Amino acid sequence: MNYEDILKVLRKSDYKITPQRKSIIQVLIENNTSLISIETLFMRTKELYGKTNISTIYRNLEILENLNLIYKVIDGGTSLYKLNCSHIGHHHHLICKNCGKTETIDFCPMETLQQLSKEKEFNLEDHKLELYGTCKKCQVKEL
Ligand SMILES: [Zn+2]
Ligand SMILES: [Zn+2]
Ligand SMILES: [Zn+2]
Repeated sequence: MNYEDILKVLRKSDYKITPQRKSIIQVLIENNTSLISIETLFMRTKELYGKTNISTIYRNLEILENLNLIYKVIDGGTSLYKLNCSHIGHHHHLICKNCGKTETIDFCPMETLQQLSKEKEFNLEDHKLELYGTCKKCQVKEL
């Protein structure tokens, strides 16, 4: 989703497009391929809009999450965020535990499990699979 699409969804749900909200969305778009923490989001938003405060960041993330615009991962107790990417179709992520970079994998390895669920007469509706590790860039740094 691009900037305009996100604003459209917000307007449709009667949310005002405040400068702060705009800045938050801008930061999320700039970090489209990385997961970021609330603290990082706060710091970067503050660079764009000086009057930003952390409670507004929390509130806006909650709104965006409720509108299904946010993809959230909890890694060792820390919540990490990026814009939802489900509109490109079903896919999985490689997530770097060091820098939060995410990479998309279009291949879905769940077919066998879907078959096994069927055999148990279980109606499988959804699944999530995230693969954690270290990206190429961060592997170099570790040497
Ligand atoms: Zn994705
Ligand atoms: Zn990395
Ligand atoms: Zn899948």
